[in-house]
Amino acid sequence: MKRIAVLLLCALMALQPLFALAAGEKNKDNLPIGDLAGFDGGWTWFGEDFHYDITNEEACWELLQKPITVLDAEENSPVYPLDAPDGNRVVNQWQGGFINGSQAAVHVLGEDEDGWTLIEGLDYYDRVIRGYVKTSLLKTVTPNEKYGIIIDKLTQRLYMFIDGKLWSDCAVSTGLVDLRLNQPYNETASGEYLIGNWVGGFDSEGMYCAMGIRFNGGDLLHEVPGVPMADGSYSFTKFGSQLGRKASHGCVRVQRTPNDDGLCISWLWENLKRNTKVVIWDDDGRTIPYPDDSTELYYNPNGGTSYHASATCRSVRDKYLPLTGFAYAELDGTYAKLDPCPHCVPAQRKSIIDERNEQWFELAEALNHPMVTGETVAEGASVVVGEDDESAYGEVSIIIK
Ligand SMILES: [Zn+2]
Repeated sequence: MKRIAVLLLCALMALQPLFALAAGEKNKDNLPIGDLAGFDGGWTWFGEDFHYDITNEEACWELLQKPITVLDAEENSPVYPLDAPDGNRVVNQWQGGFINGSQAAVHVLGEDEDGWTLIEGLDYYDRVIRGYVKTSLLKTVTPNEKYGIIIDKLTQRLYMFIDGKLWSDCAVSTGLVDLRLNQPYNETASGEYLIGNWVGGFDSEGMYCAMGIRFNGGDLLHEVPGVPMADGSYSFTKFGSQLGRKASHGCVRVQRTPNDDGLCISWLWENLKRNTKVVIWDDDGRTIPYPDDSTELYYNPNGGTSYHASATCRSVRDKYLPLTGFAYAELDGTYAKLDPCPHCVPAQRKSIIDERNEQWFELAEALNHPMVTGETVAEGASVVVGEDDESAYGEVSIIIK
């Protein structure tokens, strides 16, 4: 939603160097685009000793329930930290330098100075912006006490906590930085946010995104985009197959097919409450681990071409259920021809995990993230870039529930 179209011919794009992210680049409004060099990023938000461990329910729940300080400005309105009390914007860039009001957590760094306080928060580039805001804007909010969401950019999954327990999880796609289109702000910022308004569906350059729920200004949780078909229906094949990896322009695309617990975008749409905390974990410096060899996977021995995370995957016709189990260790042998099911999004093959880990290190290196210093990157490894044909979100109509 927040991204405006940057239209480039594919032919021209092919000629662009991949690492063309230059500080001098400007957008059509003559605002500099900027880059990530010299900034701390989302990887610093939770502190140096933070353990990204989704199995530690107690620590996760404590994080999800901890009150946060936000800037008490209207939802979806930007607040720019200033370089001094009543000074200039620390950063003033295309999509950059501001914290979204009422939703994005800030850390308070100083005491009140004549009505101004030093804070830090994360902008759309996933950069830490430090500066002064009016003290009167600081508001501490206690999150919803029943629900909490952790989205891990490493695993590309949304973890739904209810009453202190990890209830279920499902596949998502967070933002994918596109170096060819010079969109470093596509990255979904890490940090802590509060669920705000139920925005609804919106069209966006040839795709339709249903059930948008705002959590950080222009960034929403919404259904995986559908492509309108001639008969009026939508096809989710293309964007559905991207679930489990980065693909969006900052929004979090959520699985539309309910998992065995019923979790999917419509569950969120119907059950979430305002001020539920959404925690987004950074992936920098982290690698996707291999699943345990004994992890159970499933398939349909009667001609099925997919492998599944669940014996009762809802994408399979009832007469073939329950599916037949096999161990992850056998995936590259006996079951080498099966494709991962786009509905239940099972564990990836080791070769795919290796490839992704290498690509992510290379991308982080191109973006000047300090975490990759000293890491070995395979020579000639390609960089993940966004889809050419979904380059931006257009204007949308906002429906407040
Ligand atoms: Zn499945």
